[in-house]
Amino acid sequence: MTGHIPLVDLAAQHAAVADEVAEGWAQVLAKTAFVGGPQVAAFEAEYAAFAGVANCVGVGNGTDALELALRALGVGPGDECVVPANTFIATAEAVARTGATTVLVDCDVDTMLINVDAAAAAVTDRTRVVIPVDLYGQVAPIPELRAVLPERVAILEDAAQSQGATRHGQTAGSFGDVAATSFYPGKNLGAYGDAGAVTTGNAELAERVRLLGAHGSPRKYEHPVLGFNSRLDTLQAVVLSAKLRRLADWNAARRAAADRYTALLADVDGVTTPVVADGNVPVWHLYVVRVADRDTVLGKLHAEGIGAGIHYPTPLHLTGAFADLGLGAGAFPNSELVAGEILSLPLFPEITEAQQQRVVSVLADAVRA
Ligand SMILES: *Cc1c(COP(=O)(O)O)cnc(C)c1O
Repeated sequence: MTGHIPLVDLAAQHAAVADEVAEGWAQVLAKTAFVGGPQVAAFEAEYAAFAGVANCVGVGNGTDALELALRALGVGPGDECVVPANTFIATAEAVARTGATTVLVDCDVDTMLINVDAAAAAVTDRTRVVIPVDLYGQVAPIPELRAVLPERVAILEDAAQSQGATRHGQTAGSFGDVAATSFYPGKNLGAYGDAGAVTTGNAELAERVRLLGAHGSPRKYEHPVLGFNSRLDTLQAVVLSAKLRRLADWNAARRAAADRYTALLADVDGVTTPVVADGNVPVWHLYVVRVADRDTVLGKLHAEGIGAGIHYPTPLHLTGAFADLGLGAGAFPNSELVAGEILSLPLFPEITEAQQQRVVSVLADAVRA
């Protein structure tokens, strides 16, 4: 078998919801009501129920969701927020945009999730929030963090990659004081453009997020606080409601595909398959293996038409964006080690067994050579 196997293939998902989306969009277009409206409220209620929380506020994107959650918690200049060094940059950008200081910490070398002891050790008098990231689709050790962090330190769960994942039966987006998620098109629940949400059991916090994301305005032209504009578009809400109805099935298909990779790779020397933390049922936003001489292996996969990727090639402290933290190579050994070895294999709900066999066969050849 030959041919291109993409990292993510969104076409099949669109085909599944195309009619429903067309019908829903026609209703929005007929009313020319593009911001707010019953579609947004309906999706918020549906997503809250899915995540097992009382409140969901739709916002413009996942980065805004993180920033709004931080602002709602009162974070600002002079405060510190603890963030894993091995995450997508948005987690730390949101902290920077509040004016607070990003304090990076290392990950566990096996699960690549935030290291609980490192997070606890990074807490100072100025620490307001710790932001564990549900990286690659498995919930971070948030109950374990809660157990060791001082009560005054809040937890913001970055659930951008974990829609539908569970840890000991509890669903992602319901951990910590508040959670932020992203509906960027390539996420497990993807919109047709940018979108995101904040979820929380705390109704007051949810109202504060809603206020801050709507120009600080509870009623038209009243602005008791300074906010900004970050709303979930009505057209996106229609897409998200249609896709949410299928998300459990799509996540189950991802799990089956992940299990198949793990089985196929069991006998392949030189490839370390993902480690799932105790109690976790991941949703496999990404299936990330580790190999030596990763860049060579990646080159061979690309040469064979296999759309493997790296999430993420550079730990945050080694990016230009966070150079002013003054942390050089060696600051976070685990994050730096895994950044050189990680390789994301093609994974999407509709990937076929034949496609996965081909990925594994090319990968096995590449690591052997
Ligand atoms: C995608 C993502 C975000 C940001 O989401 P956007 O909608 O792209 O702003 C934040 N954190 C993590 C871990 C992500 O993967």
